[in-house]
Amino acid sequence: MLKLPGLIDPHVHVREPGGTHKEDWDTATQAALAGGVTMILAMPNTKPPIFDAKTLDIALNAARDKARCDYAQYIGAGPDNSDIAASLALKAAGLKMYLDSTFGELRLDDMTLWMPHFEKYPKQYPIVVHAESRSMAAAILFAAIYDRPVHIAHISLKEEVLLIKAAKEKGIKVTCEVCPHHLFLHNEDLTGFQNLSGLTFGRKEVRPKLATQKDVDALWENLDIIDCFATDHAPHTLEEKDSDNPPPGFPGLETLLPLLLTAVNDKRLTIDDIIQKSIINPRKIFNLPEQPETWIEVDEDAEYEIKTSEQFTRCGWTPFEGWKVKGKVRKVVLRGKTAFEDGKILVEAGYGRNARI
Ligand SMILES: [Zn+2]
Repeated sequence: MLKLPGLIDPHVHVREPGGTHKEDWDTATQAALAGGVTMILAMPNTKPPIFDAKTLDIALNAARDKARCDYAQYIGAGPDNSDIAASLALKAAGLKMYLDSTFGELRLDDMTLWMPHFEKYPKQYPIVVHAESRSMAAAILFAAIYDRPVHIAHISLKEEVLLIKAAKEKGIKVTCEVCPHHLFLHNEDLTGFQNLSGLTFGRKEVRPKLATQKDVDALWENLDIIDCFATDHAPHTLEEKDSDNPPPGFPGLETLLPLLLTAVNDKRLTIDDIIQKSIINPRKIFNLPEQPETWIEVDEDAEYEIKTSEQFTRCGWTPFEGWKVKGKVRKVVLRGKTAFEDGKILVEAGYGRNARI
C-alpha cells in the first residue's frame, strides 16, 4: 500500500449554483474524495457567475453546508469588477479570467479590460487564465508587464508548452497546469465518446479541444515545464452531451489518480511527479494551507476497469469508460478522519472546510 498526501485539484467546475442537475457541492466533493483529492478549487462560471460579494457568498454558503472535502472558490474577472474582486482576494481561491470567448458577466471583450485586474489583484494570490494559443502569449506578456504571477489553465498544445518554457527561462512568473484528458487522449480517439447511435461529436466536446498526437507528445516531452495536474472536472449529463447543442467538458476527479498511477506503472511518470504536481506545486502557487493529518492510501497493484457505475459524480459518464488502469484509492484520511474507504464515503456533508477563511 502506497501512502501519499491528499491531492489538490486547482480546477473543478462544481456546477452549484445553477447547474445542480449535473453536479453540486455534495457530489463533486464525494467524487474528489473517491479520487484521492482532498482539496478542490472551484471555478466561478456558475449560474449566476461568482463575481462579487453576494455571488461569492452564494457559493461559499452552499460549500459550507455540503462540501465533504476542503475547498476554495475562485472569483471571476468581469469588465467592471476589478476593485470588488481585489477586495475579496482573501476569501477567494484566486482570480479567474476568461481571455478567449465566454459570455455574460465574465466576458472581457478587449485587453483594456484585463489591465485593471492585473494592476489591482494582490500579487500573493494567483490570476488563473483560460487563454489558448495566442491569447496565452498575450497573458504571458501581461505577466511580464505587470511583473506578477499568472497561472495558465489546461495547456494542450505544443506551441503553448514551448512558449511557457521560453517565458520561464526569461524569469517571467508563469506557471501552468495540464489535464489528464490532454495527456491521455488525442483528437482522433473515438472510444469512450460513442453514444448508442455510435455518434461521438457531442461527448467529445471539451475546451481546449483534444489536440493532435504531436501536441500530446510535446506535453509528455516537456512535463518538467508543467507545474500542476488539474482535472478541469466539467460534468454535463449524457442527455446534454448527446443533444444538438452539446456543452464542452468532461468529468475527471475520479479518473485523475488511477490514470497517473497507470502512467507510473508504464514508466512514463514517477510518484514524485505526482507529489510535485498534485500537492507541492499547487500548494505553493495558490498559497494554500497544509492539511494536517491528511493522507491517502493507494493499492499500486490493483488492476481494474474504470466504470461509470462506480463513480460519485452526478453526470453519469466518463470518457475513460472501460479503460484498464492499475492503482486504486483505498482510503482517504482528511484532518484525522477517514473520509473514504473501499468505495464508501464516510464523512458527512459539511465536513469540508474553506481553505481561505
Ligand atoms: Zn474549466
